[in-house]
Amino acid sequence: MDVHASLTDAVGNTPLVRLNRVTGGALAPVYVKLEYVNPGGSVKDRIALSMVEAAEKAGLLLPGGTIVEGTSGNTGVGLAMVAAQRGYGCVFTIPEKSSAEKVAVLRAYGAEVIVCPSDVPREDPRHVRSVAARVAAETPGGWLANQYDNPDNPRAHYRTTGPEIWRQTDGRISHLVSGIGTGGTITGTGEYLKEVSGGRVTVVGADPEASVYSGGDGGPYAVESIGHARHPLTLQDTWPTSYHPEVVDRFERNSDRDSLLTARRLAREEGLLVGGSAGTAVAAAVRVAAGLGPDDLVVVLLPDSGRNYLSKVFDDDWMRQLGLPVDEDSPRSGHAEGLPAKVPDEPSREAGGRA
Ligand code: PMP
Repeated sequence: MDVHASLTDAVGNTPLVRLNRVTGGALAPVYVKLEYVNPGGSVKDRIALSMVEAAEKAGLLLPGGTIVEGTSGNTGVGLAMVAAQRGYGCVFTIPEKSSAEKVAVLRAYGAEVIVCPSDVPREDPRHVRSVAARVAAETPGGWLANQYDNPDNPRAHYRTTGPEIWRQTDGRISHLVSGIGTGGTITGTGEYLKEVSGGRVTVVGADPEASVYSGGDGGPYAVESIGHARHPLTLQDTWPTSYHPEVVDRFERNSDRDSLLTARRLAREEGLLVGGSAGTAVAAAVRVAAGLGPDDLVVVLLPDSGRNYLSKVFDDDWMRQLGLPVDEDSPRSGHAEGLPAKVPDEPSREAGGRA
């Protein structure tokens, strides 16, 4: 039988799929790695499993214990999935700018969720990471996963994501493009690919233009889970040790507009329903590919699904509030001739939906 004895055995080995329509005629093929195919729905299943297994081995997480983490959502889902399977409790602190869908999913897995203000300096006791550390210390049997500074985060990618890409491309990958949140993905995957290729693979960091990682001022931006913002009152800004900046050969920086419109195009033109950070990565990869030839091969990591952002990136009103256009990326405006520019609302369905 072709079966898995455990759900966690189904983590990883995600597909690599060629982009066909959004690459603007680049000669170099661009392949996307579909991390939303993981059983918890994101790339973070990989590190959840690796961090929990290492903590169990080290005796830091004991039977009946409680997993605690400050997370923008996906790491929480991965941890909640592993916790449900192994009988641990879990508590997550989450910044309020995270989407409502992510909070609802965590609660559906049985986790306790504490929503913390997004707009406070790192030193503030209400900051996501301060609250997580406090809850872990005060909970008997509590273990703080601490993806930001846990070596088992990049290690998961060094052991799984990197080797998968090398094998799937038959060693032909020339460029890896990834966003940087905790930095675990780009660090572990990038370090493996550089090592195995004898330094031939170029690692490109796809970063929001305000992010301090690539030299921005740390001001706010709308794309979730990547980049590094810096609150104006933060005194001592520290970067996660899961991120090894020297792994990045160059950055490609994107505005919210480029990232979010690219995410919407991926759904409509490639059938890939992915989140805003995937939009940042693909927008960067398309620019990288434009300067390459047919013997190069670009791999882009797509961290999670657009289903996490139906009330944000894929909500026209939310996009308009950011001052972003919603019509020019519609298939009706360009690709499908003969259709009216706008399909009128159906009043009966609208009324029914609200009742
Ligand atoms: N995109 C999404 C949607 C994520 O959840 C994360 C992880 N926070 C990232 C990108 C960045 O990955 P990493 O933390 O490994 O840098």
